[in-house]
Amino acid sequence: MAIQLPDSECIICGLAILPDQEALGFPPFIGNESDALHIFNDSLVHASCLSRHPLRSQLAKALDEHSSHVGPLHRKCCICGLQIDHPDDFMGLGYLSTNFHSPLYRYNFKQFHCGCFKNWHELNDFARALKIEVDSGNAKGRAIERLLSLISAVDTLG
Ligand SMILES: [Zn+2]
Ligand SMILES: [Zn+2]
Repeated sequence: MAIQLPDSECIICGLAILPDQEALGFPPFIGNESDALHIFNDSLVHASCLSRHPLRSQLAKALDEHSSHVGPLHRKCCICGLQIDHPDDFMGLGYLSTNFHSPLYRYNFKQFHCGCFKNWHELNDFARALKIEVDSGNAKGRAIERLLSLISAVDTLG
């Protein structure tokens, strides 16, 4: 995925990406602004800068998982195992943490039908993990706030 855009900067070195330099672009795949990989969210880098970056293997892994979970054909509910056909019936947790020790790590990219999410037996555990990570500053941003409000909406629905 080599792309070249005018006036773009490498988020690793901060220098402009010149037309004759090999560059890589990343999608907006990570909503947790506290995560180590968040710098790469929706960004461009020089290929040479990335090749020396300490998080390059974690980034490659996260992008691999991202691409295996996005797109209509990849949307399988982790509860019932069925395809999620309708975007209105889709509930995705997204990429939550790069840190293997985070209680959110095992929930990365989990996705559900809305009804399956509501009845998810781990929902309380997930809500607790999310709260712990928000309170300790390890999870923040609009995507995280959206998850928190979705969870409290589930609570009021009973
Ligand atoms: Zn660079
Ligand atoms: Zn389902």
